[in-house]
Amino acid sequence: MNLSAVSNRVSPSWGLAPRSPMCPMMSHKQRRHERQLTVPPEMEIEGVETAARRVAPVFSGPRLVALRELRGMTQASVANAAGITASALSQAERGQTALSAPNIVKVAQFFEVTPDTFAERREPDLEMKPQFRHLRRTSVREQRKAERFVMATARVASILRDRVEFPAPFMFTRRVRPEQSIEDVAEEVELAAELTRSELGLPRSTPIGSHLLGQLEAGGVTVVRDSETDRDIDAYSAVVGQLPVIVLDGGEGSVWDRDNFNLAHELGHLVMHRGIHHTPGTRTVEAQAHRFASAFLAPAQPLLDRLPRRLDWGRYLELKREWGMSMAALVRRAKDLDVINKALYTRAMKQQSAYGWRKVEPGSDDRPLPVPRNIYHAMSQAGISESYLAKQAHLPADVIQRIVGKQKPSLIY
Ligand SMILES: [Zn+2]
Repeated sequence: MNLSAVSNRVSPSWGLAPRSPMCPMMSHKQRRHERQLTVPPEMEIEGVETAARRVAPVFSGPRLVALRELRGMTQASVANAAGITASALSQAERGQTALSAPNIVKVAQFFEVTPDTFAERREPDLEMKPQFRHLRRTSVREQRKAERFVMATARVASILRDRVEFPAPFMFTRRVRPEQSIEDVAEEVELAAELTRSELGLPRSTPIGSHLLGQLEAGGVTVVRDSETDRDIDAYSAVVGQLPVIVLDGGEGSVWDRDNFNLAHELGHLVMHRGIHHTPGTRTVEAQAHRFASAFLAPAQPLLDRLPRRLDWGRYLELKREWGMSMAALVRRAKDLDVINKALYTRAMKQQSAYGWRKVEPGSDDRPLPVPRNIYHAMSQAGISESYLAKQAHLPADVIQRIVGKQKPSLIY
């Protein structure tokens, strides 16, 4: 079978040209498997119009809403771009009048998905909503977009989980009441961090350094770095149908120590706030996750003896490299553990501003940003391409590319 001929025949009507059909590290055997998987046989003979007619009677408004929100678009802009009337789109989304087959074709082509994407199907529950650090600064549209993105990520992860053996999903919880101020629950939070280390099979009191991302993936957390997540959002976490997901920002302007702390912070939400009804992004909830992050990365017991009692920045830099946490976070840790008093902490913050360390600290640019790898490796091992995954997950190819992310070169075959 000539793959390129099939692609040419299928792509224009489906709008799904395989942009990056194969993983670069695939073996010949995997590539052969890949060719078999890329274009399901029924698509070769079936035109997009036929597919749309088949789907029209089971058209689902919520599926359309999901796709529009994933794109962060308004109804008017989608209707305009797809070439259908705004009222047809709005009625279809509300389930009043299903889209006609020709309109399904238009919308499918606009979103670069197959018409089957709009067939009725149950989405997994969003068990814990995305935990945004600055909920008030995050627009509702951004929040929805993020929600849809974690759901898309969970869908991709569960498709891969059916084909490749993954670590069991991370389920550990040690709940802390979200309305409690950090002063009142500091000990509970420290204990939650300690227990989480042991749950992940990590030693109780030795540094994790900058390897937290790999430890989380090995511990059953799905992590992705999304190029479209704004740096203002930093990172967020959610639980979809029992799968915990952490999304890191696109990495533009990020540094490894910040990412490391963000991962530990989100882990704190998963452990402490999962399964509790709460408003994400409140001061108390955020303070708890911050305290968890520093306790998790730098446990009190070994740190108490190591933190300097004066502002010895050389020593802080050494500790940063060892414990994988910024000097700013370590100074804060010193204050939280009463190693330095409030006045010295205030002086430390002023010095950090004066040195320009609020933007970039020393030691932040000498390590690469952590890269999630589980999804990419699972695809590679199962011999699945991005375009095949896009069709299976009923998602646009570029969303799959966001989920898979850019990979660093690997010597592991
Ligand atoms: Zn948070």
